[in-house]
Amino acid sequence: LGFETFKLNKQLLNAVADAGYTTPTAIQEKSIPLALAGHDVLGIAQTGTGKTAAYILPLLMKVKYAQGMHARALVLAPTRELVMQIEEVARQMAAYTDLRVVSLYGGLGPKTQIEQIEAGVDIIISTTGRFLDLYRKSHIFTRHIKTMILDEADKMMDMGFMPQIRNILEVIPVKRQNLLFSATFSPRVEGLAAEFLEFPERVEV
Ligand code: AMP
Repeated sequence: LGFETFKLNKQLLNAVADAGYTTPTAIQEKSIPLALAGHDVLGIAQTGTGKTAAYILPLLMKVKYAQGMHARALVLAPTRELVMQIEEVARQMAAYTDLRVVSLYGGLGPKTQIEQIEAGVDIIISTTGRFLDLYRKSHIFTRHIKTMILDEADKMMDMGFMPQIRNILEVIPVKRQNLLFSATFSPRVEGLAAEFLEFPERVEV
């Protein structure tokens, strides 16, 4: 069965077709309906399983274009490289929508990133450090964030980003949908899920 079985709109189905995806992967099969239904999801899936599209497609269904600098969704990832990979998938899948994706990461000055936010943003994809940096300098508005995604959460914890994740959770709205993806399931991931997710549906591939 193809992607038409999901409740995705025509714009997204066209982008999926352009990407050459014909059959959903196992993690997509399991996660997409749950995420579309508004559940919190704990996904255990490695890179290469199609996990990015598994959360990006429901996200693109949920977020609507809105003028201004208030993002509606935040995707956090451990490294600049991963942020860039996620951005690529998000841009590809958003090609037929009017949604604006901005990615934020360190290693270069923030000027261009700040300008992109100021031009209007719907979805932010970021490393934890750069997000907090720009938030503290009042370049990011979090009040309208309704979806939060943590990708490679196990790696984020391995890299010592737990305090930063907690700092970010303190500055975004409590009422939101959460999706947490991790390559492994460990007591630490379980702890993070308990702290961060509400009645999560667990999916594993
Ligand atoms: P990811 O696990 O998100 O890093 O994705 C790994 C690779 O699989 C990426 O190059 C995607 O473009 C590709 N991919 C994701 N979903 C599908 C699909 N349903 N069919 C074919 N390729 C896919």
